[in-house]
Order: sequence, then C-alpha cells, then structure tokens
Amino acid sequence: MQAKKAQILREAWGDRPCDHPDYDREIVLGCDSGDKVCTQCGKDLSAEEIEEIRRKKQVSPLAALGRNDKGTETLCPK
Ligand SMILES: [Zn+2]
Repeated sequence: MQAKKAQILREAWGDRPCDHPDYDREIVLGCDSGDKVCTQCGKDLSAEEIEEIRRKKQVSPLAALGRNDKGTETLCPK
C-alpha cells in the first residue's frame, strides 16, 4: 500500500478503535519502507500487532477459501 493511501486511511479512520484485520507493506516512492500498515485504518503496526494478525489468520484457515479471484472477501449470509 502506498504510504499516501495509508495516510488517507488514517485521516478517514480517525480515533476509532480498529482490530487490524489485515496488514500490507508500506510503499514509499515505489520502495518497500519495511513498515507494515493496517489495510483498514492505515496505522503503522508494531511487530507484536503483526504477529497477532498472523495468529488470527492461522486460527481460521477456511477464511482464505471465502476469497474470490479478485482477492476480496465474499460475504456469505449463512
Ligand atoms: Zn487497523
């Protein structure tokens, strides 16, 4: 994710709490900055927060099957 987009997300998200459902690499001027940002709120995530996200994803491997070809979540009502 472009650093600029992360900044826009942060401004749009404000001070609301976020459970950081997923993260992405932060890209600055076309290069990986080495930082990871939340795809929902745009916050710079600490190593502990990234570890937490990875753990949650491992707990629900079936969630990966709910993604369509475009990589977006397919929400099933039941
Ligand atoms: Zn977040």
